[in-house]
Amino acid sequence: MPTTPLTDRVEALLADAATLPIVAAGDPVLRRPAEPFDGQLSDTLLARLIEAMRVTMHAAPGVGLAAPQIGLPLRLAVIEDAATVPEEVRAARGRVPQPFRVLINPSYEDASGRRVGFYEGCLSVPGYQAVVARHERVRLRALDERGRPVDEEVAGWPARIVQHETDHLDGTLYLDRAELRSLSSTQSQSAVERWAQPTPRLAAQRLGFTLPESD
Ligand code: ZN
Repeated sequence: MPTTPLTDRVEALLADAATLPIVAAGDPVLRRPAEPFDGQLSDTLLARLIEAMRVTMHAAPGVGLAAPQIGLPLRLAVIEDAATVPEEVRAARGRVPQPFRVLINPSYEDASGRRVGFYEGCLSVPGYQAVVARHERVRLRALDERGRPVDEEVAGWPARIVQHETDHLDGTLYLDRAELRSLSSTQSQSAVERWAQPTPRLAAQRLGFTLPESD
């Protein structure tokens, strides 16, 4: 059990700045299963925390942020993706816009029997991207920010974001599931552009890794 009540930790976190510091890989908080939310925070404090996570995600910038990434072992994440990408990328990756939403105590299961492999990155693993084969569609169960149950199917890129963020709450980083031979630096624009094609098929050939057979 933490020695400091969660409420105090959240109050301290929110007192400092509008954007919260993001925890990087190597911190044990990213490797522990987070605790389910069961009312440990008041409605007001939860709302303030969610807003701070939203602002932090935008500033990063990123399309998802899980509470362990700001040092809180709580099953809470926010996601949002404007999906401002070329049409061919949108079509290949299913990268449709994902409006802002809050996931409390989320879990997912495969809803398609099909995996798709694409490059992704993580705010807690800056400077790199790697290909991860993920379920093309998942059944998401969660609570929203008002505690209402969510039970729906999510497909395409939003399904990838849901899986990535929910994995954070189980102490799993995307690198645990990645094709490590696909690991690619994002330190320079030319390195990013090298594998900016709609699919990672060329990267698979040139770097020597395999994609799910549906690709
Ligand atoms: Zn991440």
